[in-house]
Amino acid sequence: MTASFAASVLSWFDHSGRTHLPWQQNPTPYRVWISEIMLQQTQVTTVIPYYQRFMQSFPDIKSLADASTDAVLKHWEGLGYYTRARNLHKTAQLIRDQYANEFPTTLAEVEALPGIGRSTAGAILSLACNQTHPILDGNVKRVLARYHALEGYPGQSAVQKQLWAYAEQHLPTQRNAAYTQAMMDLGATLCTRSQPACLLCPLQTDCQALKQGKPTAYPTPRPAKVLAQKHAVTLLIRNNKGEFALEQRPPTGIWGGLWSFPEFPDQASALASLNTQPLAISTLATLTHGFSHFTLHLTPLLVDVQDLQTATHRIMDRDSWLWYKAGTEFSGGLSSAAQRLLKNLTEEI
Ligand code: SF4
Repeated sequence: MTASFAASVLSWFDHSGRTHLPWQQNPTPYRVWISEIMLQQTQVTTVIPYYQRFMQSFPDIKSLADASTDAVLKHWEGLGYYTRARNLHKTAQLIRDQYANEFPTTLAEVEALPGIGRSTAGAILSLACNQTHPILDGNVKRVLARYHALEGYPGQSAVQKQLWAYAEQHLPTQRNAAYTQAMMDLGATLCTRSQPACLLCPLQTDCQALKQGKPTAYPTPRPAKVLAQKHAVTLLIRNNKGEFALEQRPPTGIWGGLWSFPEFPDQASALASLNTQPLAISTLATLTHGFSHFTLHLTPLLVDVQDLQTATHRIMDRDSWLWYKAGTEFSGGLSSAAQRLLKNLTEEI
């Protein structure tokens, strides 16, 4: 079964696989690494322009390592999951300092780098160096869970372990780079989440989920969970030049390192932080933002102040902050909440 699985996948890849993605051209470990991290939780079509801009600004490890955090986050603005960008930056500095700008090429070394798990390490070394390693990203998990009709949510460790065993079992003895790309493509283009194109699939003869007549029953979905609801107040302090006070968030946590409006647990603490009498206060429509573990309900308070320096002194004294004019160029990364609020404000003004 092993040989025919890999052989079927490879022969399908030869006529239907993707070969024109930007990271497939000159696939160095660095280029593949950046693409793999961007593609986590993000669609190929969304990633392509980000990837091209990123490569233009940071064509190699050294240029990324030497860049400022703000510049790196700026290139990530809109892609979400900013920990990925911070880890990329940190890892580039580590490779610059410990590996003299050469991306390591053993699985153990690559897996030990920040932000790189077993599957990503395998994908980098397979796609860039043609080494034989299994991968298990979301697409591959779906194909294998269906092909073997594996019961159980892949987030559970026993299910995960079984999937890794299948991934290893099906590895070809040659053309590993092509096989890895083929498995990703198969999951992304044929064995899709809700409408698998089984009639076109090279695995249709032995696919157990198809034999059962219920391909989409696999993989077993994540058990339902109730998301926590969090409420916060954000201050939109506007000075008499029409500029807004932005502060840089702490490096860790949500929107870590990005610029945003100052946030408080409630209205009383937000207003108490001002050390001047506001000229006007108005409450704007609450913004709802979904995160993987909770939903944030952010109530914006628009506060007009006269005295620029003292009005925000106590708030902004806590962190690094600046005045920003909505609609103008900004060199740092903006949190998605700040982007949405600024857009609303610009439309209102
Ligand atoms: S036959 Fe259908 S369900 Fe099975 S692997 Fe192919 S596309 Fe997926």
